[in-house]
Amino acid sequence: RPRVLSGIQPTADSFHFGNYLGALRQWVDLQEEHQPFFFIADLHAITVEQDPKVLRQRTLRAAAQLLAMGIDPDRSAIFVQSQVPEHAQLGWVLQCLTGFGEARRMTQFKDKSAKGGEGAASVGLFTYPILQAADILLYRPAYVPVGEDQRQHLELTRDLAQRFNSRYKKTFRLPEPYILKATAKITDLQDPTSKMSKSASSPSGIVEMLDEPNVSAKKIRSAVTDSGSEVRFDAEEKPGVSNLLTIYSALTGREIPDLEEQYAGRGYGDLKKDLAEVVVDFVTPFRARTLELLDDRTYLTEVLRRGAEQAGAVAAGTLRDVYDRVGFAAAG
Ligand code: ATP
Ligand code: MG
Repeated sequence: RPRVLSGIQPTADSFHFGNYLGALRQWVDLQEEHQPFFFIADLHAITVEQDPKVLRQRTLRAAAQLLAMGIDPDRSAIFVQSQVPEHAQLGWVLQCLTGFGEARRMTQFKDKSAKGGEGAASVGLFTYPILQAADILLYRPAYVPVGEDQRQHLELTRDLAQRFNSRYKKTFRLPEPYILKATAKITDLQDPTSKMSKSASSPSGIVEMLDEPNVSAKKIRSAVTDSGSEVRFDAEEKPGVSNLLTIYSALTGREIPDLEEQYAGRGYGDLKKDLAEVVVDFVTPFRARTLELLDDRTYLTEVLRRGAEQAGAVAAGTLRDVYDRVGFAAAG
């Protein structure tokens, strides 16, 4: 079975609808026919300052959410990135293969460092995509299910894999991004031209998976909509309404033209009211299940330990090949 790999950062108390519809839902589906490795990216999280206690809590919350949405630990290795040291080790080797100018072209660094200024950003935030390349290449996956914002990082990953393979010897598989067009970029409810983001969106712009259901409903009902009143999908002219239609369609499985027809001659208010109900029905059982899982820390820790063991076995094999090929002397 072909391998898949993906990760998510424990940078908030809850995942949001962008994470879920853009990536996590595909993780669940891909489990069926693939051999999956899914990790909680705590090494990436510290590229910006984190409170240690909060980071540890969020890591467990992330694990609970992944299980609650249907990641099955008997089919998928779920693990915490820092528990598999090969990620950082391969990261270093790949840093030495990356041009400074090449790293500079990564637009996510520009976005994420824009607020505080480049000078205040950490070097880790700058080299983050290279660590991400290591995360992926260690497992030689066929596919990497992510949202649109990760496309450029996937291209860098493929470039680095290719470079290593041609400079030394074929070692890495070139992974394909697995990006579902319809939900690849869920936008901020209050600023529908920007992506919904754990760290950049305002609370009212994000629908969190673990929000109280009535809070989520309220956020949907207060989403910014566009001028005019026609419910029509048009990402350019009507980004707010289009985002709501995308979420609606993704959660119900109904086609967008079908929804457009249903709301023909009705206003944005009706659309938002109905979508709010759909969202409540979706998050209520998810939230209950997550909170239940969080009550059993021993189980969660055990799942993560087992995941790290499975991942570590694969990662160690790849790193051994890499160290050998770059010319590191074997320990006696
Ligand atoms: P942060 O703001 O801390 O970077 P994030 O919301 O971008 O958080 P990540 O942990 O960086 O979340 O990303 C996890 C996965 O979710 C990635 O595959 C990413 O592409 C996807 N993703 C994040 N935001 C969205 C979005 N708005 N629409 C679709 N996919 C998204
Ligand atoms: Mg992100």
